[in-house]
Amino acid sequence: MPNAYFNIQEPKNEPYFTYAPGTPQRESLKKRLKELRSETIEIPAIINGEEIKTGRTTDVVIPHNHSHKLARVHLCGEKEVAIAVDTALKARREWADLPWEERVAVFRKAADLVTGPWRDTMNASTMLGQSKTPHQAEIEAAGELADFLRFGAWYLAKIMEEQPHSSDGVWNRVEYRPLEGFIFAVSPFNFTAIAGNLPSAPAMCGNVALWKPSTESVYSNYFFMRLLKEAGLPDGVISFLPGEGPDVGDPVLANPQLSGLHFTGSEATFNHLWKTIGSNIDTYKTYPRIVGETGGKDFIFAHNSANADQLVTATLRAAYEYQGQKCSAASRMYIPESIWDDFREKFLAEVADVKVGDVEDFSNFMGAVISRKAFDKISGYIDYAKKADDAEIIAGGGYDDSKGFFIEPTVIQTSNPKFKTMQEEIFGPVLTIYVYKDEEFEKTLTLCDETSPYALTGAIFGENRFVIKKMADRLRNSAGNFYINEKPTGAIVNQQPFGGSRRSGTNDKAGSVMNMMRWLSPRAIKEVSAAPTDWRYPYMDDEN
Ligand code: NAD
Repeated sequence: MPNAYFNIQEPKNEPYFTYAPGTPQRESLKKRLKELRSETIEIPAIINGEEIKTGRTTDVVIPHNHSHKLARVHLCGEKEVAIAVDTALKARREWADLPWEERVAVFRKAADLVTGPWRDTMNASTMLGQSKTPHQAEIEAAGELADFLRFGAWYLAKIMEEQPHSSDGVWNRVEYRPLEGFIFAVSPFNFTAIAGNLPSAPAMCGNVALWKPSTESVYSNYFFMRLLKEAGLPDGVISFLPGEGPDVGDPVLANPQLSGLHFTGSEATFNHLWKTIGSNIDTYKTYPRIVGETGGKDFIFAHNSANADQLVTATLRAAYEYQGQKCSAASRMYIPESIWDDFREKFLAEVADVKVGDVEDFSNFMGAVISRKAFDKISGYIDYAKKADDAEIIAGGGYDDSKGFFIEPTVIQTSNPKFKTMQEEIFGPVLTIYVYKDEEFEKTLTLCDETSPYALTGAIFGENRFVIKKMADRLRNSAGNFYINEKPTGAIVNQQPFGGSRRSGTNDKAGSVMNMMRWLSPRAIKEVSAAPTDWRYPYMDDEN
């Protein structure tokens, strides 16, 4: 046991490399891309530190070059889940008893590996497997992932310091225990950082986790799993269980030892998982903690006092970076008539300049969407808009899957503020714009608040301070991450804790102390110096 209080200095957010021509990082990243692309690897499940090849496999391809096979991934089912639960619970005995500072040391080392010797591998695997540009990979697969790990360790240290008041003769303490049982971490395809954090945050708190990565991002996720081993994570603390959702999910959720779900992904999947937990509720040993961050229908709302040039840049980045496949991506916009012509001209000129293609060509701003399923879904929305009477495609609208799953940055203008693409999450490079009459500003604020079931991110643009205040008030519950004169994407750990409410999730704020608290079960301890020896109270004394 430690003979000192250990503290952790407040970390700094990881700075990003630019990968501009002439920089050594650019050459090094290109070299790693070439190496990774030149081989097809086998991705096993990893259970109790052991690589398991189940023989049931599916191919992992490059989304922008889908004939190129990056890997064959081995898929898990009931049998592997049973072994993983068993070994995780055995690993828990020692891991949960390990002092918190020893546990976080592993993840702090992992962060330094991410930003050091593994940086190129994390970025290159994310670029190839998830079709991210160098910048989009760097800000998350290196930057955000390291931030999650470093700040998570610091948050945990701060929680440990949080102690109750003690009165004379009493010593009150609170200890922060991991949850009994195991955590199920289920991750989406779109962020390597989120995937890495979902099992890591509970593990730092002393829990053991079964991690089901998305088969669409399993390539980069597997490298992170290997990195954790190099960082010294003991076997069994995190098991890696690639597989089809229900094949892994059903047996995991049926296990009485489930103590928490740490989920990021779509609303439909989260609803299904929550319902399943609900229907199994009588069987669990402890009420499972449910943390889930889901979809968004994120807005940009401009007032007529907005700066058009700032609005153009913010809208373009928010709608089209990573092909609009960010939960925070701007996908609906409200703009007043009086600035529309000016904005339209400037914005469409910039959109026409956006290059879409192979992310290994560093001049491209956009890559491909993740899969054929995503391609079909997004192009379906575009086709719907093409046929509609109350909408018009004013930019883009093209798509081509002959080599990769490419979709042009697309702008739909609609006269119907409740048009389908103003309401539903598309998760692709499609922005729908509704032009409102300046005098209907107030009414349009209500529309913005009521149009979508989600409430994840939103941005307002305007220079008039009274108006900014009014918009912020009226849209108070429309977004969990709210931006003023800034794009609604790009939240940074420890700066803008991330998450939304309504149908966007439980808003437990990934990358914050609030999230870490969810993986801890406090025990309050009261110790008295001199316990009473008479059970009678003074009010009972004889009055005479
Ligand atoms: P998805 O819901 O299709 O998949 C998420 C994960 O759930 C995958 O690993 C998938 O295999 C798994 N899954 C599916 N069915 C399952 C089952 N029955 N049991 C267990 N696991 C199951 O989501 P996606 O396409 O990977 O990600 C995109 C979605 O994620 C979008 O809706 C996006 O808005 C959301 N997202 C939200 C945030 C946020 O912070 N709010 C961040 C990133 C992504």
